[in-house]
Amino acid sequence: MMLEGKHAIVTGGGTGIGLAIARGLVAEGAAVTITGRRLEVLEAVAEPGMHPMVMDVTDEDKVRDTTAAAVAARGPVQICVANAGIAEGRKLHKTSTEMWRKIMATNLDGAFFTIRESLNSMLETDWGRVIAISSIAGLRGAPGAGAYAASKHGVIGMIRSLSEDFMAQPYTFNSICPGYVDTPIVARNTDAISQRAGVSEDEARGMMVDQNRHKRLIAPEEVAAAVLWLCNPLTQSVNGSEIPIAGGQI
Ligand code: NDP
Repeated sequence: MMLEGKHAIVTGGGTGIGLAIARGLVAEGAAVTITGRRLEVLEAVAEPGMHPMVMDVTDEDKVRDTTAAAVAARGPVQICVANAGIAEGRKLHKTSTEMWRKIMATNLDGAFFTIRESLNSMLETDWGRVIAISSIAGLRGAPGAGAYAASKHGVIGMIRSLSEDFMAQPYTFNSICPGYVDTPIVARNTDAISQRAGVSEDEARGMMVDQNRHKRLIAPEEVAAAVLWLCNPLTQSVNGSEIPIAGGQI
């Protein structure tokens, strides 16, 4: 029960990677606020120790008010996992401004609002962890997904800068950078690739598996394990880092 008495917030905590992270944090004794846009999804998965709250990360006022309400109910946020995100692929020269803005608003603005509001209470405590779920596409170019890659590179720049701002203080800021993980995002991508490339769903899934050098999709729990490791007090010197979980792609 390494995290007994700690309040964590996990955006996008009702599905996929976020849910695996929330489960891991609860198993270590944390009280976990899970957020997303769909209350029914959050309520369906919530187990004792998880507290569903509707929060659209693109809505600055909503992020401020929801985080304040979570802090009032469960105390300062000491673990902030900025996980909510969308993955839509299109070659950059075919990307509309609308699509670009939607990806940036969710993946980059959303992480910024989430972390800024959580820090307000975290900085009043003597220990904190900020962890962003970036992507392997935050560390290298992503063919056919330029806006997504730009948003995930942006997240890494923000996290590195935060670590500089608070260096030598009892908080750490790190990014996790997975390859393809077996979640609803990959299921949606499978549909999209299958339609775009005119291949079967099995072939479309195979194309994603092939991009993971270890030739299988990553389990969400593998990402959760990295989050839990970063929450261990003995990782205090791991700060401003990126942790790739991608079979050695980088
Ligand atoms: P999911 O689609 O399962 O998770 C995305 C979560 O984000 C959902 O719970 C969704 O909930 C939430 N979300 C999306 N938009 C918003 C919004 N505007 N406001 C609040 N919540 C939002 O996929 P994953 O678990 O795979 O994705 C989690 C993160 O991992 C993302 O940031 C993704 O980019 C990243 N990632 C995923 C990889 C993969 O292969 N799966 C690889 C590398 C990184 P709701 O729709 O209810 O709002």
